[in-house]
Amino acid sequence: MVVVGAGTAGLEAACTAAEVGCHVTLLEKTDKIGGLSVEISKIPAKKRLADFPTYLKARAGQLENLTILTNTEGTLERVRQYHPHLVVNATGSVPILPPIDGLAQQLQSSAPVFSILDFIAEVERYPEDLSGKRVVVVGGGAVGLDVVEFFVSRNAQITLVEMLPTIGNGLDASSIASVQRIPAKGTSTTTDRHCFDQSTPGRLFGQPKWHGRNATLRLWICMSWHEGICSRFGRAF
Ligand SMILES: Cc1cc2nc3c(=O)[nH]c(=O)nc-3n(C[C@H](O)[C@H](O)[C@H](O)COP(=O)(O)OP(=O)(O)OC[C@H]3O[C@@H](n4cnc5c(N)ncnc54)[C@H](O)[C@@H]3O)c2cc1C
Repeated sequence: MVVVGAGTAGLEAACTAAEVGCHVTLLEKTDKIGGLSVEISKIPAKKRLADFPTYLKARAGQLENLTILTNTEGTLERVRQYHPHLVVNATGSVPILPPIDGLAQQLQSSAPVFSILDFIAEVERYPEDLSGKRVVVVGGGAVGLDVVEFFVSRNAQITLVEMLPTIGNGLDASSIASVQRIPAKGTSTTTDRHCFDQSTPGRLFGQPKWHGRNATLRLWICMSWHEGICSRFGRAF
């Protein structure tokens, strides 16, 4: 059996198959295993997310019929070399961008507009005190709320933009409990649908509210994913 991708999904699949007697080769294109969950654990509130890949690595280390190859991309040719009976694709999520005018350009530019992966890459460099800084988070699902929680703890002023009528739609009970612990002070939410104005970078179409009043915002957006981690922290704050 060949498993492609050594994130938590690939590690779990590889361990489970090896434990029931399969000969498993796990291919990972980077130099480390654990995938996204290891990166996310750099967010202070998510530190414990690293426990799962740590446990999986220990479990994998005890399995003689499981071989893990890092720095090895799972291409069609390489997978065929193993003549596997079964192939598991565990290569993670495909980055998506919502259809917002100018967003892709802004993410590639020096504008203070960030994807979630940009945010995580810089997370250890954010000042402890962001009093007076204004942050807009686009997307009020689990990931957006993690970002809100992070900035609330650093005293930033946050506006959360969500196109659905509900913030945290479909969240599990534990995440809802964690969201309920976010203090209302310093945060505002809008569930109006906003689009970004391509001709005026850094401005929103539609008017976000700040405690019921119209707000003018310098944008810092953490949202869905794109390829390439860039270092624009210094220019943002
Ligand atoms: C901010 C944030 C917070 C989150 N919080 C939580 C949480 O609290 N609880 C929770 O359960 N989930 C959470 N998640 C989601 C969770 O992190 C992911 O669902 C999970 O890590 C995905 O694991 P995966 O193994 O599917 O993919 P990944 O972890 O992305 O692993 C994919 C692996 O495949 C490798 N790969 C890709 N292509 C190839 C190839 N061709 N050949 C070889 N290797 C390849 C990659 O290098 C990577 O190592 C969060 C996500 C985010 C963004």
